[in-house]
Amino acid sequence: GLTVKNVIEWMNNFSAKIEQNKQFLSDLDTAIGDGDHGFNMSRGMTAVSQKLSTEPKTITDAFKQIAMTLISTVGGASGPLYGTAFLEMAKKSSTSSDIGDLLAAALTGIKKRGGAEPGDKTMVDVWTALVPEVKTNKLTQEKIASAVEATKDLVAKKGRASYLGERSKGHVDPGSQSSGYLFEALLETEG
Ligand code: ADP
Ligand code: MG
Ligand code: MG
Repeated sequence: GLTVKNVIEWMNNFSAKIEQNKQFLSDLDTAIGDGDHGFNMSRGMTAVSQKLSTEPKTITDAFKQIAMTLISTVGGASGPLYGTAFLEMAKKSSTSSDIGDLLAAALTGIKKRGGAEPGDKTMVDVWTALVPEVKTNKLTQEKIASAVEATKDLVAKKGRASYLGERSKGHVDPGSQSSGYLFEALLETEG
């Protein structure tokens, strides 16, 4: 199962990807939103890395700290949603340290919190495609890339992009791209 060391490595990998791609993420958001997604996530993950440097004792504590930090620093629509994801992982971690179980609980939380279903062109699309791959140990870089890319042709039904209606087509969803980095970061975590 997942250890505190794994969680910290996963989050540091994620933070590095967000930092490297923050302008790209914000550019994706400029096309169909308000252009802040990369900056929101960068602010949040910088704070998360700093918080985790104090070395939580259990994965439950680690996930709680990540959740609280994201909720208080990211803002926008994505802050509460990523926050909810990690809060649900914290809760689930009292009975399981299986990453597939934890991510499944997170996805349920994201859907409940944001009300989005698969096909609405939100991060839910990427999570829905990839959580089962994690559960069955079949996650690959290619599957992540295609799940992110698949959001391009969808019409947004939730969040700011939904204000554009049909014009949201032809652009990758920014929250799906950042979620893709979260899964890539996991793939690159030794374990
Ligand atoms: P804001 O839109 O408030 O500026 P961000 O730009 O940080 O927030 O995040 C936008 C991303 O949040 C979208 O690309 C989408 O993936 C995700 N999102 C927005 N609304 C929802 C929702 N109701 N359910 C799931 N994800 C959502
Ligand atoms: Mg935005
Ligand atoms: Mg915003």
